[in-house]
This record gives sequence, C-alpha cells and structure tokens, in this order.
Amino acid sequence: MSATIIDGKAFSAKIRGRVAEEVAALKRDHGLVPGLAVVLVGADPASEVYVRSKGRKTVEAGMESFEHRLPAETTEADLLALVEKLNTDPAVHGILVQLPLPKHMNADAVINAIDPAKDVDGFHISNVGLLGTGQKAMVPCTPLGCLMMLRDHLGDMSGKEAVVIGRSNIVGKPMAHLLLGESCTVSIAHSRTKDIEEVVRRADIVIAAVGRPGMVKGAWIKPGATVIDVGINRIDAGDGKTRLVGDVDFDEAREVAGAITPVPGGVGPMTIACLLANTVTAACRANGLPEPE
Ligand code: NDP
Repeated sequence: MSATIIDGKAFSAKIRGRVAEEVAALKRDHGLVPGLAVVLVGADPASEVYVRSKGRKTVEAGMESFEHRLPAETTEADLLALVEKLNTDPAVHGILVQLPLPKHMNADAVINAIDPAKDVDGFHISNVGLLGTGQKAMVPCTPLGCLMMLRDHLGDMSGKEAVVIGRSNIVGKPMAHLLLGESCTVSIAHSRTKDIEEVVRRADIVIAAVGRPGMVKGAWIKPGATVIDVGINRIDAGDGKTRLVGDVDFDEAREVAGAITPVPGGVGPMTIACLLANTVTAACRANGLPEPE
C-alpha cells in the first residue's frame, strides 16, 4: 500500500493563516506589529530566492519586513555594526542573517552577536544550549517544521525509534534534541556511520537531512515508518532542465513507508511558516504578552 503523503504546502499555509490571525490580534489589542529583519550578504542565487520569499510571506502575514542587502565585500565589523543596530531597534523582533556568509567572515561570531531574544533562526549559542537542556528556546525553523508535521501526523511519539541522518547544527542536531524532547529513542547517523541501512531499518521515524539526492532507498525503510525528507537537491532532469529532489528515493520509499513528505512541497514550505511563528513569539516575549500556543 502506498504511503500517506504529508502535504507541507497545505499544512504550512494553515500555520501562516494562524500566524496572520495572531498578528492581527496583536495589532488590534496592543498596537504591536511584529517585525522581521533579514540580512543578506552577497548575491548567492539560492539565498536571494529564500530572502525574497521570506520577505513576501512576512508581509502577507501582516508583519513588518526589513531587508538589508550588503555587498559580498562587506567587512565583518560592518556586519556586526548592523546586527547591533537591529538588536536595539524596538521595531525589530526577529533577526535572521542568511547563511552561508562569505568566507572572510566568521559566521559563529556573527550569529552569536544577535540578541538571543531576537534570534528567530535559533542558532545563537544560548538558544542551542536552552534547546539542548530542554528549556524554552528559539527553535531552528526547519527542525521545528519537521516536528510540527510529525506531531500532526503521529500525535504521541513517546518510545518510538527515531533516526536522524545528518548531524549539522542547522538541522540534524536540533532535530535530534526535539525528538528526545518527544521521548523518542534517537539515533544520529552521519558520514562515518557503519551500516547505515541497518540503523535506518529499525526506525519508526526517519529524518533525512544529508544533501545527497535519493540516498535513502526504499529497502532501508521499516514498513509503516514515517519519513521526513529535509533534503533539497537540484538534479539534471535530462531534458536540459533541472528539478528538485530530496535525500530519499521517493518512488521506492512511498511503497514501504506509512507516511512521507514530498520534495518539493514537504519540509521546505514549513521552514518559512516556522520563521514567521518564531517572530510572533519573539514579539510577544519582548512585550511581556502571552505567547501563541
Ligand atoms: P550539511 O552539509 O551541513 O550536513 C549534512 C550531513 O549529512 C552531515 O552531518 C554529513 O555527515 C551527513 N552526510 C553526508 N554524506 C553522508 C552519507 N553518505 N551518509 C550519511 N550521512 C552523510 O547539510 P544541512 O544539514 O545544512 O542540510 C541537509 C540537507 O537539507 C541539504 O539538502 C539542504 O539543502 C537541506 N535543507 C533544507 C532546508 C529546508 O528548508 N527544507 C533547510 C536546511 C537544509 P558528516 O557530519 O559526517 O560530514
């Protein structure tokens, strides 16, 4: 039997609708307009697309969008000065510095200069520490989107075997912490994992965040497992065009899994929806207002 397709596009639209309602209520009841500042250094084409899309969705949700585009040769000191300005700007509740940064910059230093309360990407060392110790944190948007889809689809995940493939700071590690928070038994696989197929085969929940097109084969999947494919890989479609595929061989896996996210239309749209939700949360916290659920 073919797997249920988890529709991230529809689910993310629902979340963005909820965020828009929350924003409208904040405006009406408190005169508060949540603001998100996005900083892009250089002209990486993929980053350009993300930043444009983030700005558009921020405005659609009724929030204020501040875009700062800096040339690739900007110095780290100038970028830090901008971050400091945004930290103290009361109209800015969330700050996102689009990664990757140019090579001459120390990305860790820049991210750690963001006020943790405005760190809507959840990459600041304070938020990483809060998440790692099970405290209230700003949670990175992509893993948060995965968690929301899992909760929506599975409900209680307590005691389930979960495997996260990939150990990046952006996806793999925070995802593993979130699954631990759900009381899953969590394994993290990476490029040095021996017999990765065997590790994946025991999982009720598989999160693939690798960056290798179609790496996870249908035969690796435990029948009935829930598969969340974070990978976004552009491959040659053979007709002079390209197309996006995930890290999971979708056609194979859908014949075995209980549920699976497609690429595109799965995790991708959830990331921006969670960014908007994090910005509203930051705005509420900054103003001593109750946070949305
Ligand atoms: P990274 O390159 O930072 O990390 C990739 C991870 O995969 C590493 O931990 C690496 O292991 C592991 N890996 C690489 N090759 C293998 C292998 N053969 N077997 C097992 N593990 C392997 O990537 P990200 O975490 O940033 O992103 C992962 C994917 O998710 C990418 O396709 C990216 O485009 C996508 N992505 C999607 C987002 C969305 O919004 N949907 C947001 C962010 C990312 P090791 O540590 O040992 O090198």
